[in-house]
Amino acid sequence: MQEIRGLAPPIVYVFNTNYLNNMFKAYRFRMYPDEDQRVLIEKHIGSCRFVWNHFLGLRNKRYSETGKGMSYKEMASLLPALKKDHEWLNEINSQSLQQTLMHLDGAFHRFFRKLARYPNFRKKRNSGSFSVPQHFAISDNHITIPKFGSPIRMFMHRNIAGEARSLTISKTPSGKYYVSILTESSAILPEPEKIESRSSVGMDAGITGFLTLSDGIQIENSKNLKKSERKLAKLQKRLSRKQKGSRNRDKARIKVARTHEHITNQRNDFHNKVSDVLTRQYNTMAMEDLNVSGMMKNHHLAGSIGDAGWSSFFTMLKTKALSRGKNTIEIGRFDPSSRMCSNCGYVYGLKLSEREWTCPECHNRHDREWNAAINVRKFALIKAGVPTDRGELTPVDTVASVLSLLSREGVTQAKWLKQEAPRL
Ligand SMILES: [Zn+2]
Repeated sequence: MQEIRGLAPPIVYVFNTNYLNNMFKAYRFRMYPDEDQRVLIEKHIGSCRFVWNHFLGLRNKRYSETGKGMSYKEMASLLPALKKDHEWLNEINSQSLQQTLMHLDGAFHRFFRKLARYPNFRKKRNSGSFSVPQHFAISDNHITIPKFGSPIRMFMHRNIAGEARSLTISKTPSGKYYVSILTESSAILPEPEKIESRSSVGMDAGITGFLTLSDGIQIENSKNLKKSERKLAKLQKRLSRKQKGSRNRDKARIKVARTHEHITNQRNDFHNKVSDVLTRQYNTMAMEDLNVSGMMKNHHLAGSIGDAGWSSFFTMLKTKALSRGKNTIEIGRFDPSSRMCSNCGYVYGLKLSEREWTCPECHNRHDREWNAAINVRKFALIKAGVPTDRGELTPVDTVASVLSLLSREGVTQAKWLKQEAPRL
């Protein structure tokens, strides 16, 4: 099994865009703890789970007896007594335990605001995490954290910008360790460029292709990804045949988990490359507001959409656009982008199985996804109040430039749907 060492998804989230000059970013790096450090990480994960479950139990009991909840402050004040009863908790960084209580408190707040379900007890699993809110140091591919005698080795494949605010250390089901470093920087985001029709593009998240652009470029999912997915299916089948509790089952489980992680890395890498090219080439990118969870309920689409990971791609694209001063526009999910003829505006009763169709009104032949992408662009420009350039032909130079940028990044599965150039 080929393994991409240290290739973890780099910048994944922008947590806070309300304060334009206060940006939070998370960087994730692979860690290589030695045996002692590994044992202590396991103890931290286990103890945080224990504390979570203990206080969740207490809160449940309190509520059923008195109808009252428990504040963070009260829970934290009970922590020293718990440590007296359970000596081994003293081996653990107490701030990590307090942080667990904060997370529990946060989980209740989200529940009361109807943003999340009632907090669950945590089961013992092969994976887990804990936070280190303070008193850590990062230097030269090593990270020093309280209670750990020596610095833990990690592979920093990129520099971090901003000040490190907190850490989360996690173990994946296949037994790899990662540290996620949350940083805060006061870098001011660039002023967004003016939205112009000639440098704007519409996108359609396809079922067959990964992404189709209004310029007529279609990008497919990478072949390597498809290969890994076939491998995963095979491994999962093999796992299901192994006897529960057997050593062989455990080995098979680790193989499945590793392949899952490998697929995530491959997909992230692919998304990174594509979003990089798009945000370099276009000043405005338009997409449908994909309610992915809604679309997942449609069993026709569930497989391919789940695989393609649209929402993570669009999040990445929006983040990049924001940091580069580019614009993204989301149009309503119910605009008839795929059913409307992009040439004459006729709304057609398009079936899900129809990949191509001919407009009964103007007799233009349409590729389903290309036509949709053209409409997405059009709707977005209308929404932004920018005059659309009816009559302008496909900008061939842009197409050539995008294709060459993509291939330079190693994304070779992109092509130009070179039919009769449509009117944009
Ligand atoms: Zn038409």
